[in-house]
Amino acid sequence: MYAPPNIESGPGIAGRLKDLPGRVLVATMEIPWGLLQGQMPWRPHHVQMVTDMDLTRLESLETSLPLCDIVIGVGGGSCCDTAKYLAWKRGCRMILVPTIISVDAPLTNMIAVRVDNAVRYVGDIWPKEILVDHDLIRKAPAELNRAGAADIASIHTALYDWKLAGDLRGEAYHPEVADLARECLEELDRNAEEVFNVTPKGIDTIVDLYRREVEFCAGIGTSRPEEGSEHLIAYNLEHITRRHFVHGDLVALGIFLMTRLQQNRHEWAVDFMNRLGLRYRVPGGTKIDTAGATRDEIEQCLVTLKDFAQKTNLFFSVVDVRDISPAFIRESLAALYDRS
Ligand SMILES: [Zn+2]
Repeated sequence: MYAPPNIESGPGIAGRLKDLPGRVLVATMEIPWGLLQGQMPWRPHHVQMVTDMDLTRLESLETSLPLCDIVIGVGGGSCCDTAKYLAWKRGCRMILVPTIISVDAPLTNMIAVRVDNAVRYVGDIWPKEILVDHDLIRKAPAELNRAGAADIASIHTALYDWKLAGDLRGEAYHPEVADLARECLEELDRNAEEVFNVTPKGIDTIVDLYRREVEFCAGIGTSRPEEGSEHLIAYNLEHITRRHFVHGDLVALGIFLMTRLQQNRHEWAVDFMNRLGLRYRVPGGTKIDTAGATRDEIEQCLVTLKDFAQKTNLFFSVVDVRDISPAFIRESLAALYDRS
């Protein structure tokens, strides 16, 4: 059952962790743990370094780690999701301390795990306590924090696809929820500069918009308001390349391409993404994503997109109704690479 989380934010707010009662187990990685220690030397009962999200690994962690009263996730999506897995299995108190806001994992009830190298979602635990430490988050690479805005900007393309599915397929469409989603998009627009500069206001905006998005999606039992054909681009590119990228970069590429296919305010969307600092060319070059996507890979992604959408049958979208012609692909790639 969804319950709104208690989110506390501020500079150095992770200092609260020191006063927790009982046995504390932390799931983290070297970099975020080093940052936290630099800010606040602290020795909890057990610190577990997260290496990967393989379901078998999580299962063995859960049985082999010492007993605890509180599980704390310190880091990005994998650290938060590992903490969620442990707290879900053990039924204990959980606190999440995101040190980067590139994904919405600190707000969602599901846990992204890997089985045979494919993403699968397991579990059901709504985070109740979240500490948003501005000092910690501002130490992460700015482009990765900005990437978090992509899963909110995706409302623009997702709403188009959702309405299309309602009109042509009779899928449940809730105009009042679409309005709530549109308000989130407008709020992001108003705060684009703060998001770009990763200011405290920008950080709080992203986290609050995630919270709102997660809440109205939970209310209707679908992520349709924020997940449409732009996510098909993201999933297909990972499927084709068998590599991982920054999720927000892929979604931004999806927004770039699908606003063209939808003929849905493409120029506005590109300007919006520029103001947010979203990297729709998927350039790579950061610590967790060194390769980036090539022009050939993006071309292949478009060539195979219709097939991918039909085979995976994830959701009905513009991809099912419009022709993705060689001319469309050529012009889209030219637009993607040739603009300054
Ligand atoms: Zn997403």
